[in-house]
Amino acid sequence: MNPRFSALNLIQVRKKSTPIERPSRPSEIFGKNVFNKKMMKHYLSKEVYLELKRSIDQGDTIKREISGPVANAIKAWAMDLGATHFTHWFQPLTGLAAEKHDSFLELSDDEAIDKFSGNELVQQEPDASSFPNGGLRSTFEARGYTAWDCSSPVFIFENAYGKTLCIPTIFVSYTGESLDFKIPLLKSMHKLDQAATAVCQYFDPTVERVSPTLGAEQEYFLIDEAFFTLRPDLLLTGRTVFGAAPARGQQLDDHYFGSIPERVFAFMTELEHDAHKLGIPLKTRHNEVAPGQFECAPRFEEINVAIDHTQLLMDLIDRTAQKHNLRALLHEKPFARINGSGKHNNWSMSTDGGKNLLSPGTNPQENLMFLVFFTTVIKAVHEYADLLRASIGSAGNDHRLGANEAPPAIISAFIGSQLTKVLDDIIKPPRRTKKDAPNPYLKLGISKIPELFLDNTDRNRTSPFAFTGNKFEFRAVGSSANSARPMIILNTIVAQQLMDFKKQVDAKINRGRKQDAAILDVIKDYIKTSEAIRFEGDGYSDAWVKEAESRGLSNIKKTPHAMDAYLKEKAVKLFTDQEIFTESEIHARYEVFMDHYLNKVSIEADIIADLAMTSIIPAALTYQKSLIHTVKASKDIGLKRSAVGAQQELIEEIGELVGKTMNLNKKLTKARKKAESQPETGDQAKYYADEVIPFFDQIREQVDALEMLIPDDAWPLPKYREMLFVK
Ligand code: ADP
Ligand code: MG
Repeated sequence: MNPRFSALNLIQVRKKSTPIERPSRPSEIFGKNVFNKKMMKHYLSKEVYLELKRSIDQGDTIKREISGPVANAIKAWAMDLGATHFTHWFQPLTGLAAEKHDSFLELSDDEAIDKFSGNELVQQEPDASSFPNGGLRSTFEARGYTAWDCSSPVFIFENAYGKTLCIPTIFVSYTGESLDFKIPLLKSMHKLDQAATAVCQYFDPTVERVSPTLGAEQEYFLIDEAFFTLRPDLLLTGRTVFGAAPARGQQLDDHYFGSIPERVFAFMTELEHDAHKLGIPLKTRHNEVAPGQFECAPRFEEINVAIDHTQLLMDLIDRTAQKHNLRALLHEKPFARINGSGKHNNWSMSTDGGKNLLSPGTNPQENLMFLVFFTTVIKAVHEYADLLRASIGSAGNDHRLGANEAPPAIISAFIGSQLTKVLDDIIKPPRRTKKDAPNPYLKLGISKIPELFLDNTDRNRTSPFAFTGNKFEFRAVGSSANSARPMIILNTIVAQQLMDFKKQVDAKINRGRKQDAAILDVIKDYIKTSEAIRFEGDGYSDAWVKEAESRGLSNIKKTPHAMDAYLKEKAVKLFTDQEIFTESEIHARYEVFMDHYLNKVSIEADIIADLAMTSIIPAALTYQKSLIHTVKASKDIGLKRSAVGAQQELIEEIGELVGKTMNLNKKLTKARKKAESQPETGDQAKYYADEVIPFFDQIREQVDALEMLIPDDAWPLPKYREMLFVK
C-alpha cells in the first residue's frame, strides 16, 4: 500500500491521549519548577537571600562569596524536586538553546555523593569548538565560558524520564567576545535603561530604572507525525519544497478563531501545563488564519526573561507535539501559498515604578512624557530601518515577508488615525475659526497637551511595526527566530535615539529655553524628520511598494543583501558607541548568519534534487510506462485514434515535465558550483539568493504539475490536503 494511505489509516485509529492530571487552577502549579524569590527565601539564609536579590534587581553579577551557599541551596531545592543532573543552558548563535548535562554524582573515596559547587553554578567551560563563532576563535583555542545570568531564574526541565536543573547562562569566548544572543541583549538593556532613565528624569526624578518588556506571540503549524515522517523535506528543512495547492486552502476563512480541534486542544492543555510549571505565563491560545495553524502567547515580561521563555516555549511546543503524535512546524513558511508564521514581538519600556512609558497618561505632563518616548521610537525606526530589516532576516523569513500575508520587507510604522492626528496637530496646529473651541496647543501652550484617549481597535495587520495602544508590535519577526536578535537592535537604536534626544533638549535648555518648550521643539523635529517611515495604508498592496520607493524607504527582499546593513559605517558606529558589539564581533556575527543562511539553503537544494530524482521522477516514469502500455494495447486491439489521442498527450505532458525537471536540476547544480566558487561567505550567500534559489521555485512548478497528473495512489509524498486537514 502507498505509505500515505497507511499513514491515513494509522491516524484514524490513533488512541486519544489520556488527559493529564492537573489542578483546576493554573496558579497552583505556576512556577513550580522555578527557583523563584519565594524558593530563594525558603532555601537561603536571610543575608544571602538579600544579597542575591540585590544582584538580581540591579542586574549585577553575583558575588563569589555567596555563590557557594546559593549553589547549595539550589542543589537542595533541585534534589527535593527530583533533579539528578544540571546543565548550563545558553543560546549560541545557531538560534537553538544548547545544553550539556552533568550529573550531580561525584565519587569521594569510592563513595558516591551528590555534589554541585558554587563554581559549577557560576561558571563552566564547555568545549565550544563546534558552536558558530564567525572566526572569532580558531579551533585550537576552543575554550568558551558559560556564566550564570542571575537575572533569569534557574529552572528544572522535566520529561517522563528525568529532571534536569537548568542554569541560564551567557556564553563568551576565552578572549571575551560574546558568542551568544544573551550578552548583547543584556548590554542593550543596560544602555536603554541608562538612556531612558535619564529622559524620565525630566518628568519624574524618582525613576531609577527602565526595563524593556516583551510579549511574543508564537505562531506554528501542527501536522500528524505520520505525515511528517513521510516528508523528508519537512524533516530536514522544516518546510515543504514541493506540494500542489489543495482544492481548499484558507479561502473559506473558517479556521481563524474557530473551535480548536480536540487533539490540538489536548496538546495545548499539556503545553500550557508544562509552560506554567516553568513559570512561562502562557495566556492565550487560538487557531490562526491558515488551516492547521495555531498561536499561543505568554503575558509580557522583562525582556531577558521573556526571551528565555520564548526559547523554552519553542522547545516545549516541539516536545509536547510529539507526545501527541503531532509535529509542530515552527518554520516561517512550511507550506507555499498558505499563510506563514510569525512571532509578533510586542515591545515596550517600563519604569521600576511599573509605569509603561508607551502608555498615554491621564494628565498633560504624562502625555508629554508619552509623546517623547513614542516619537523617539518612531524616529529611531526611521533612522535605523535597515538594521531592523537585517535583524529579522533568515532563509525562512524571506519566504514569508511580502508574500501577501505578512508585512513586506519594507520597514514602516503604523500608529493609527488618532495618534496621526495628534502628531500632525503638533507640527501644524489646526487653524481655528472664531466659533471653534480654543485650540489647546495654541492657547494653553505646550504643557497642556490634551488627554489622549486611545482607541485600541485601530489595528493594521499589514504593518511590520505597529503601535497597538500601549506597545509597539514588531510583526515582521519570523516564527523560528530567537527574538533576541531583533530586540537587541530595537533596544540599541532606541537607546541611541534617547541619548540624542536628551543631548538636543539639554542644549536648548542651556541656551535658555524652558524645559517643556525645548522638549516639544525636539519632538516636533522628530515628527517631521521621521514622517517617511509612517504608513497607515495597506502594507500588502503594490501601491505601497511604489510609494515606499518614492519615499526613499528600502525594500530589501533577500536576507544576504539585507545583512549588509550590519557592516555599514552607521551601524558599526552605533554598535561600538553603545558598546553592544566590537567591530570584530560585528563581523563574526555577519559571518555566522551568512553561513547559517548558506547551510539552510544548500540543504534545501540537496533535498529538492534528491526528492525530484529519487521519488518524483520514478513515480512519473512508472505511470508513464503504464500509459504507454495502455496506448500500445489499445492500438493492438484496433481502437480509433480519437480513443487513444488523449492518453498519448498525457504521455507527452509527463515526459515534458520530467524533462524540464531534470534540465532545471542540472542548472541548479551548475549554479550551486558557481556559488561555492565565490571567495567570501557573504558573496556565496548572495549568489545563492540571486542565482540558485530561483531554481527552487522553477523545479517546484514542474513537480507540482506532475502531482496533478499522477494517480493519487502512486504519489509518494503526503499531500497538502492531508497534512493541513487530517487530524
Ligand atoms: P493582540 O495583539 O493579539 O491583540 P494582546 O493585546 O493580548 O494581543 O497582546 C499581545 C501581547 O502583547 C501579549 O503577550 C501581551 O502580554 C503583550 N503586551 C501587552 N502589554 C505589553 C507591554 N507593555 N510590553 C510588552 N508587551 C506587552
Ligand atoms: Mg498581535
